[in-house]
Amino acid sequence: MREAALSNEQAFHVVAWVERGKTPVIGVNGSAEKPEFRRRFKDGKECFISHAEMDAVSKLRDISPHDVLHVMRFTKRGNISMAKPCKYCHEYLRKKGIKKVRYTDWNGEWQKMTID
Ligand SMILES: [Zn+2]
Repeated sequence: MREAALSNEQAFHVVAWVERGKTPVIGVNGSAEKPEFRRRFKDGKECFISHAEMDAVSKLRDISPHDVLHVMRFTKRGNISMAKPCKYCHEYLRKKGIKKVRYTDWNGEWQKMTID
């Protein structure tokens, strides 16, 4: 289930960034109550979802098609793990105009994806 996948992305375990010269714009998981992060589920419940990817992108003042969003996930033991953006992030990134994403996979290797 998707919810299970979402609940795996806890707090400080996921970090995302977009390079901006010498200073990357960094995002972390949270529950910022911004309207753009509001989600309504089929059962009528609402919540605010703010994943690291969304947080990083929401801090960008301008977005270019050349921007690359990087997403890393760490397990509790400190190993690098799967950080592929979930469906909510995917939708958010597409709306915001982010095209290129790099994320770590189960083996800690970088993978690329294109959002279209
Ligand atoms: Zn997500």
